[in-house]
Amino acid sequence: MAKLEIHQFPCLADNYGVLLHDADAGLTASIDAPDADAVHRALSEKGWTLTHILTTHHHADHTGGNEALKASTGCTIIGPMAEAERIPAMDRGVGEGESFQFGSAQVHVLDTPGHTAGHIAYWIPAHATAFVGDTLFAMGCGRVLEGNYQTMWASLAKLVRLPAATRLYCGHEYTVANGQFGLRVEPGNTALKARLDEVEALRAAGKPTLPTRLDRELETNVFLRTRSPEIRRRLGLATAEDWQVFGAVRDLKNKG
Ligand code: ZN
Ligand code: FE
Repeated sequence: MAKLEIHQFPCLADNYGVLLHDADAGLTASIDAPDADAVHRALSEKGWTLTHILTTHHHADHTGGNEALKASTGCTIIGPMAEAERIPAMDRGVGEGESFQFGSAQVHVLDTPGHTAGHIAYWIPAHATAFVGDTLFAMGCGRVLEGNYQTMWASLAKLVRLPAATRLYCGHEYTVANGQFGLRVEPGNTALKARLDEVEALRAAGKPTLPTRLDRELETNVFLRTRSPEIRRRLGLATAEDWQVFGAVRDLKNKG
């Protein structure tokens, strides 16, 4: 299996940029383009030339660099078909069930609507890696802005079904605040408590808490833990559907 290098870097207030590089094929993709200058700096640091942008959703903090990067590099911009009119300079729309070749890697597209109506994730099974944008965060999930709780829950459930060892790259560094919230919802979760200590130490040292891994999320992400008896008891939702438990947790988080 050919090597695929991944370089993550912070940009804007709390976004992450990610570059994906296949040296043999001479290809470099930016996962989203929060900020053209930051992407250019990361590219020149690595000595890579941008060939693609893989967009997860239309929000400006994920597409703000599209036009400038396309103008300076001529890169091909791939993004969610359903948001084609809202994504600047997009060349090719993709959706659920499609896959495309990036160098030696097969990239699978998953529709993950809810944060936005057309949000997609990119999954590379051969490298046990997925780029999930603003659908899932470490110990958190995106706000449900263009869907309902059933839609968003179905998207999260789709990510949960990926192999447990899948590395997840997310759009934002919200981990500490998410962990603090999670502990309020499920105070008896010792894995969550331990992880919060760990990510607080990482942030104090100026280090990223991402990428995360699906198995760690299953243990510590209260938005995914709809089967937790403690969470259900505290919310008074012992017999509710999973999506309803998810919705109640999301409501609580929205109230801050
Ligand atoms: Zn967003
Ligand atoms: Fe975002």
